This record gives sequence, C-alpha cells and structure tokens, in this order.
Amino acid sequence: MKRKDINRRTFLRISAATGAGLCVNPAPKASVLAAELKTNDHAMPVRALGKTGIQIPILSMGVDRPDSQNVLKVAYQSGIYHFDSAHIYQNGRNEEQLGKFFEGKPRGSFCVSTKGMFPFPLRDNFEEDILSKLDISLKRMKLDYVDIYYTHDIRMPEKIKDDRILNVLKKIKAEGKARFVGFSSHDQNPEIIHAAVDTGVYDVGLISYNFKMKNLKENEEAIERAVKSGMGIIAMKTMAGGTEDAEGKIQINGKACLKWVWQNKNITTVIPGLTNYDHLEQCLDAAKNPEITPDETNYLAALKEKEMLYCQQCGQCKSQCPEKLPIPDIMRAYMYAYGYKHARQSKETIAGLNLDKHICSGCEVCRVSCPSGFDVGKKVAAITSVTGIPDEFLT
Ligand code: SF4
Ligand code: SF4
Repeated sequence: MKRKDINRRTFLRISAATGAGLCVNPAPKASVLAAELKTNDHAMPVRALGKTGIQIPILSMGVDRPDSQNVLKVAYQSGIYHFDSAHIYQNGRNEEQLGKFFEGKPRGSFCVSTKGMFPFPLRDNFEEDILSKLDISLKRMKLDYVDIYYTHDIRMPEKIKDDRILNVLKKIKAEGKARFVGFSSHDQNPEIIHAAVDTGVYDVGLISYNFKMKNLKENEEAIERAVKSGMGIIAMKTMAGGTEDAEGKIQINGKACLKWVWQNKNITTVIPGLTNYDHLEQCLDAAKNPEITPDETNYLAALKEKEMLYCQQCGQCKSQCPEKLPIPDIMRAYMYAYGYKHARQSKETIAGLNLDKHICSGCEVCRVSCPSGFDVGKKVAAITSVTGIPDEFLT
C-alpha cells in the first residue's frame, strides 16, 4: 500500500503554494494536499487528525523539559511540526520555551497544543480563571491562537459532559483562541471517550495507549467510535513506563512500543517527551520505518504480563486505602521519576495532589493489593519525598 509521506521541504513548499501550512488549512485543502504528498526515504507518514483538516506526521513532540531548545530545533528540521505542551508544565517555562522557538517561524509551519486544568467540581469563577490562564499561555508562546486546546487530565465522564465546561470550550473556539478543542485523560477509561463523543464538542482526544493496557479491547472500541464520529485521537504514555523492568534500570525498546501503537490506524500521532538527541533519533528512525517486526512483536508480548513501572490506572487501590489517597496519580509520578527519569515532572505531579504531610502514618503495613503486583506502600513512601528536593537538583 502506498504511504502518504511528507518531509519538511515538501510541507513548506505546499504551505508556500497555498499561502498557509498544513496546520492552518481547512479540511478540503488538506485533503488535496494529502494527495500531493510524495514518498520519500527521509519522510514520516502523515495521518489526518479526525475531521479537523490537520495532517500531522505519526511522530509529534511532547515538550516536557525546559532545556530542550536544541532538541526542538532538530526535531523541527527533521519534519516534526506538532508540539504538545500544557499551561502547568514547568510552571510555564515549557510554553515560554516554545514561544522562544516559534519566533520568526511561519505560523503555518507548526502546530501547537496546550492544556488547561479545570478543577472539578467547578468553582464559581472557573471560566474567568481558565480564560485568563489561556491568555497567559498564548502570551508565553507569543501566539494569537493554539491549534488545539485541551481540558487537561479528565478522570470522570460526568466532568467531560459538564455544560459549563462545554460552553467555555465553545467560547475559546468562537473567539479564535483555539482552532480546535479536546480533552486529555490518563485514565484509560473508555467511558470517558464515549462521553466525549456524545457531547459532539470535542475535536480531539489525547489518551493513554500502549501495549501494556489490560482493557485494550474496550478502549479500542471507544477509539474506533470516536474516529468514526470525526474526532482525532492522539496517543500518550506510549512507552508504557519507559523501562522493561520494575526497578527502572533497563530502558524499554521505544521503537517497538511506538510501532505497536502505529499499527492502530485510528491513532493519528504520538507525543513522546523527546528530551535528548538519542531519544529523538530513535523515535525518528521508528517513524520512518513504522512497520513492526516479528521480533519486536515477540519482545512486547513477553513483557505484557511482566511487572514493570506502568500503572494501569485501574483504580482498584483507591477503595482499599483508608486514607483514600490518589494512588494512580502517585504511581504515575513514580513512573515519571523512575521510568522516564523526569524527576521534576514527578515533583509537579505530586505537588498538584496537595497531599497531607503525614500520609500513610496510620498504616503499619500497606493494605493495598495491586493486580499489577506493585508494592504500593513502598512506592508511595519513595516518591512523595520528591517534593522536598529543590528543583535545581532534579532532572
Ligand atoms: S496502583 Fe495498581 S491497583 Fe492502583 S491503579 Fe495502579 S495498577 Fe491499579
Ligand atoms: S500505606 Fe497503603 S493503604 Fe495505607 S495509607 Fe498508604 S497507600 Fe493507603
């Protein structure tokens, strides 16, 4: 089957010819442009993002470190042009980093998304809060609009359907501050995807998706329904924790993980946090040769039932814990530190949970029995101390 590939030169040529980039073209033009794309040895396949008209390579960049200016530059030169950020990442330094990077570049030559937190239940002034934070994000990035604006970290179907949230998202779109709106969710809960589809408001879903997930069938059915409805789906947590062991010592074969994700044609692109040249090179190499090999398939199959660092976010621990701790989030923070070696993100995640200083003090032995085999009490104790470490000592 002929692949629809694009490289930066082709992309910019087409952008120049049409007066705009792929990211800013309406759907009809984008479909014409897709037909023009030529196969190229140095190119990545592109896929359509639902009915948005945006076409992006299967590899995008999660911008989750403040020191990635040079990596951003090389990624862009290599044909990556969708960059994912969030208002809260690195207390804004992340978006500032992107603003510096975007300076002088044609607006149509890149595609950018950011996210805002909508604490739930909603506060009376939530709309004002969200809109002012989005203005700050735009100012940091020196932009008039983002391509995708997500309501961040959705955990409940009821939240995604809340009329006040839907109205503020519509307002953001109507005012031209975001071309498209979406939701992000770590929870692997297919009900969240179904609820988003039911609203008819969300253009894009940013969801966890990897070979380790236990409820894949239900999630894939929900993804299929979302794509059929016109929603674009972007995958995160594709590296399933970053290491193939529970101790965080053996780096996982990231190429195999990405190729596994790309087998699902309903996934438009992935946003691994590309933090160094080696990682970028590996991911680019995988994107240019995305067909998974039998060896890679076997490798992942052997890891499927093994204890790793990836928390299934199944929530079974919550009811077992007398303190009702947000254990899935704490496990995610543990994964950031020990799997992705990203201790600052771990610290931010823990700080955002507003945990009591004396958590777990009422338990002599942890009462949680985790189906993934995690020693939850030990991990909670290990990772919550990260908040006491000054940022300058963290990666
Ligand atoms: S820690 Fe275990 S029980 Fe809790 S959400 Fe993760 S996998 Fe499920
Ligand atoms: S030790 Fe385990 S059960 Fe007890 S509060 Fe901590 S996480 Fe919950």
